[in-house]
Order: sequence, then structure tokens, then C-alpha cells
Amino acid sequence: METSGFTEEQMTVRDAIFKVCANFSDDYWMEHDQTETYPHELHAALAKDGWLGIALPEELGGSGLGIQEATMMLQTIAESGAGLAGAQSIHANVYATQPVSKFATPEQRDRFLRKIISGEWRTCFGVTEPNTGLETLKLRTTALPTSDGSGYNVSGQKIWISSAQVATKMVLLARTTPIEEVKKPSEGLSMFYIDFDLSQPGLEAKRIKKMGGRAVDANQVFFDNYFIPKDSLIGKEGQGFKIILHGMNAERALLAGEALGLGYAALKKSSEYAKERVVFGRPIGQNQAIQHPLASAYMHLEAAKLATYHAARLYDRSTPDNKDYDPSITQHQVGVACNSAKYLAAEAAFTACERSVMCMGGMGYAQEYHVERYLRECFVPRIAPVSREMIMNFVGEKVLGLPRSY
Ligand SMILES: Cc1cc2nc3c(=O)[nH]c(=O)nc-3n(C[C@H](O)[C@H](O)[C@H](O)COP(=O)(O)OP(=O)(O)OC[C@H]3O[C@@H](n4cnc5c(N)ncnc54)[C@H](O)[C@@H]3O)c2cc1C
Repeated sequence: METSGFTEEQMTVRDAIFKVCANFSDDYWMEHDQTETYPHELHAALAKDGWLGIALPEELGGSGLGIQEATMMLQTIAESGAGLAGAQSIHANVYATQPVSKFATPEQRDRFLRKIISGEWRTCFGVTEPNTGLETLKLRTTALPTSDGSGYNVSGQKIWISSAQVATKMVLLARTTPIEEVKKPSEGLSMFYIDFDLSQPGLEAKRIKKMGGRAVDANQVFFDNYFIPKDSLIGKEGQGFKIILHGMNAERALLAGEALGLGYAALKKSSEYAKERVVFGRPIGQNQAIQHPLASAYMHLEAAKLATYHAARLYDRSTPDNKDYDPSITQHQVGVACNSAKYLAAEAAFTACERSVMCMGGMGYAQEYHVERYLRECFVPRIAPVSREMIMNFVGEKVLGLPRSY
């Protein structure tokens, strides 16, 4: 990647993260993918050096940096060869804690976030449901007040919840007022930061077999009258959708960075291979049919990189406690930038990974050359946390003013 134009802080993050990740070889990631084993060691190494609190306040033990630096951190993890699995083993701890940090009471922040930063606790993010998919506002999981007023009973199902097998906490979006009783569908949802304790009654997680990023578990989660205390509510009841959007925009920027990291990692492997592999008496990389697809994939990554760090900068500068806070930046502008960046980076990463596999011929398909793993992983940023189609629906309607298509 071309690194000119980044801030000194971003470059410091990049150098330091590359150093931590150098202890985790390509073979470590291949083996963890094959054995579907969680990369606990990476999480522990990053926690030990204080990286999990990169975008959380200093008074809680964090570094007080922004999503721009966090995006650089996650890009670098992916780019080091850890890929999406490495990045996903920590990313919810960075983005899902953003709305907690911004909307929780000082007492809740203190109680909840210190242990995430130290690595003692881990967070998962519970939004997607099997029966509602991308129609988040229709989600059916309910949190109903208990008769003694001490808390809520949660019932319903979530799906695709990453890291639920290892998490101790979950950011949960659930309905507290039936949809028929609210004026707007975005009302009546509440955000909770709950204990995720699989030993308690009413909570179960079932691992889903998946295509890539296999080191990190994805799960179906079942709630059946699972009790959560009242003080796990973050912000006001019924305002959860607005609150969680802060985490979602941050997540899009981080995932864009992770996609970029995968794409650059793939191009590094394929261009090294193309320099060395000799067929018909010369390196395959001397052929323009090999060289040009890789060169154009690089340029697409570079363009997506600009969109990604622009989005992360807008996110940070729209945050009131940021030193460069600009009140004129609207949440709509942040949303457009973060969605566009995630779309562009995911597509650029896919192009880079697919071309890398193809230009390496048979060896692109061999596990020991790693790019097939990157290709499998790079579908995730295209699907999650919001699909390509829904981003285009959003831009078509909310930016271009076209009629709503769905
Ligand atoms: C590996 C992985 C990890 C994940 N981790 C988490 C997690 O930790 N927490 C969490 O909450 N979720 C997680 N997700 C879920 C992810 O956010 C969803 O899969 C994603 O939002 C898509 O939802 P869906 O799968 O229900 O697709 P669906 O809503 O069923 O959509 C299926 C397809 O139809 C298209 N489509 C639907 N409606 C329209 C329309 N109106 N116009 C055009 N196209 C349309 C979509 O674009 C998509 O291509 C994860 C997913 C994966 C694959």
C-alpha cells in the first residue's frame, strides 16, 4: 500500500501492529482455519499491548484515538496475513463498544469497558435474526420487563453472531415495544449491553459451519426468557436503533479497512509468485495478461483506501468529544461515506483476491499459498454487515433521490 498522506499516529499504529502480527505466521492462520480454532493468542497479544482500547477513552484505560487509527489497526492485522479471521477475532470489541462508550452512563462505562480493554472480557454483537435478515427494523427478539421491575426477559433468535463461543458480553438489539404500538418502525427497539453467559438458563449458542474465516466462530443464538438486569439498558428505552447506528457506521469503516488488508495481502503474495514462477522461459509476471490485472486491482484498492479513510475521518470528526470535532458534519454524511467505503473496499478486495488466485494458476488453489483462504474470506465484507444491494438501495434513494425500490 502507498502510505503517503497518513498521519504520524496512523503510521505508528501500522508499524506497531505489524510487529505484533509478525509473531503469527501464515502457517498459524492456515492451521487455525483448518482446525477451526480461535486465535486466542492474537487477542491476548493485542490486549497485553493495550490495543483493544484504541478508540476508547483514556480515562477508562483506552488510547483515546479514533476510528481512523482503529481502521488502520484492523487493516494491518488483515494485511499481515491474519486476514479476516485475525481481524474478526477482535473487531467487535472495537466497534460494538462505540455506542456503549457514547451513550452509557459514566458508571456503566466504567463497569463495562475496562475489562474489554484489558482483554478479560470479549464482546459479540447481536443484531441479525434468521427471520428478518437485512430488515433490521422488523427484528422480533423481545426484551420484556419482569413483573418485579428488576430487569427484562429476552426471548428470540439471533444468527451469524461472531465470537459468541468466546464472548462474555453482547451488544443486543431487541424490541421493547411491539411494532404495532410505535409511530415509526425505528422506535421501540432498545440497545442492551448484556452478560453473555452460556451457563445460565435460557441462552444457547450453536456454531454454524462456514466457508471462510473459520478460526472465528459464527453462531445461531437462542434466547428463551433469558434474564438481564435493568442496568444493562444503554441510553433510553426505545432509542436503541439510533444508538446502535453509531456502532454500525464504525463497523463499516473497520470492515472496509479489513477488506483492504486482505486485498493488499493477496497482491503481495501473487506478485511475489509472478516474479519467481518461470514458464516458457520467463517469469509469468512479465506477461501483461498477468501484470495488468494485478496492476489494476492495486489501483482499485488505492481508490477504495481513500474512500475508507475519508469515511473514518468523517466518523471521528462528527463525534463531539473528538479534538477535530466539526458540528457541521451530519450523521447522514457519515452514513453515506461509511457505506460507500465498505462497498468499494469489499469489491476491490474481491477483485484483488480473485485475480491473485487466477494469476497463480494451480498454486493459487493450493492451501499452502494462502490466497485461496483470502478469497474465501473476502466474501464476508461483500455480504456483511450490510449487503452490496442494500448499500446501492440506500445510495439510490437517500443520495440520488430515486424512488424507494423495496
Ligand atoms: C461470517 C459472518 C459473520 C457475521 N457476524 C455477525 C455478527 O457478529 N453479528 C450480527 O448481528 N450479524 C452478523 N452477520 C450477519 C450479516 O450482517 C448478515 O448476513 C447480513 O446483514 C445479510 O443479512 P442476511 O444474511 O439475513 O441476508 P438477507 O436479508 O436474507 O438477504 C439475502 C440477499 O438478498 C438481498 N436483498 C434483500 N432484500 C433486498 C432488496 N430489497 N433489494 C435488493 N436486494 C435485497 C441481499 O442484498 C442479500 O444479497 C455475519 C454474517 C456473516 C456471513
